[in-house]
Amino acid sequence: MEKIYSLNDLVIMKKPHACGENKWKIIRVGVDIKIKCLNCGREVMLDRLEFERKLKKVLGEENEEKKS
Ligand SMILES: [Zn+2]
Repeated sequence: MEKIYSLNDLVIMKKPHACGENKWKIIRVGVDIKIKCLNCGREVMLDRLEFERKLKKVLGEENEEKKS
């Protein structure tokens, strides 16, 4: 399955963070993907494959989220 994501997109991961939040913001895209928990601000680095495996949904950029 193809998932399209880019820098600054909000994403939902399959497993919520330890703090209970499962929305993250992509803050770096490269060989590794860095995401930041929207609730507690913790940053996590994952390699691309792992990120895509754990990714549940791409919500798009922050301002697009408010449309729904
Ligand atoms: Zn958190």
